[in-house]
Amino acid sequence: MKKLILFISITVLFLAFQNCGELDVEFETSSFELNSLRQDLSADMDGMEELHENLKLSGDMIVDTDNLEEPPEVGSFGMSGLPSTGYYRPRKWAGGIMPVKFASNISTKKKKFFMKQCKKWGELAKFKCVYRKNQEQYVFVTNKEGLGCYSDLGRVHKAIIPYNRMNLTNNCFKRSGVVAHEIGHALGLIHEHQRPDRNKYVEVRKENMKESDKGAYTKYKYSELPTDETKQTSYDFESIMHYEAYAGTKNNKRTMVPRPEYRHLRDDMGPMFVPGAGPTTKDKRVAARIYGYK
Ligand SMILES: [Zn+2]
Repeated sequence: MKKLILFISITVLFLAFQNCGELDVEFETSSFELNSLRQDLSADMDGMEELHENLKLSGDMIVDTDNLEEPPEVGSFGMSGLPSTGYYRPRKWAGGIMPVKFASNISTKKKKFFMKQCKKWGELAKFKCVYRKNQEQYVFVTNKEGLGCYSDLGRVHKAIIPYNRMNLTNNCFKRSGVVAHEIGHALGLIHEHQRPDRNKYVEVRKENMKESDKGAYTKYKYSELPTDETKQTSYDFESIMHYEAYAGTKNNKRTMVPRPEYRHLRDDMGPMFVPGAGPTTKDKRVAARIYGYK
């Protein structure tokens, strides 16, 4: 009898795990247009709500220059909208807890899918997402078609914007890597290919880029980084915060290629659209540098 109960328990557990897996499969094998998702990650400020003069886009990342600990002098903004001088540091989530509120048109399955990607970020870091109850500061995830996938960088300044903005279209929800990428911005991470040392590793081909996408390729200065992690970790071509080779292309040619000595990583670079992709171990370490190791 005991053996039978044990057998049934294992079967139930096995089926439960199988069902967990199906969630990803269902999203990730549904009809998928790579170019339309690329378009969703392209800079487009039209139609975005609550714009104000200090808000700039860096690809899919909203950089709010009011969100600085020490606002720079007026007129010191660089091409990307980031201050070209001064100290920049996105705000962290208190206690590493990021409350999330979902728009009413987002299904339970999508909410769970989102929370699952969030959990990966907390595998090394003291960071987690919780469903928002009455917390004052939170991420509001919307599902508005035509607006693309985007997120604020770090926790926004409450006095200016009441909550963090994140939009995920149905397309964005079709890739775990895209959802994980946007969560990465919300917790405070910039793009890997915007690291100060990126030119040693990748060649950025601006001639193949749409004008509106160039802002996503400007380099940060070390003083502008959310963490000093990049001084200590090697460049991560496979980071979930790295764009893929054709991001923002206007002519179907590559916008970014690894330097010759890293050419073998060409197909692994920027895995955001690969089914099942998520933060790499290095990504998780960066999160842990910001929020503390578990
Ligand atoms: Zn991004």
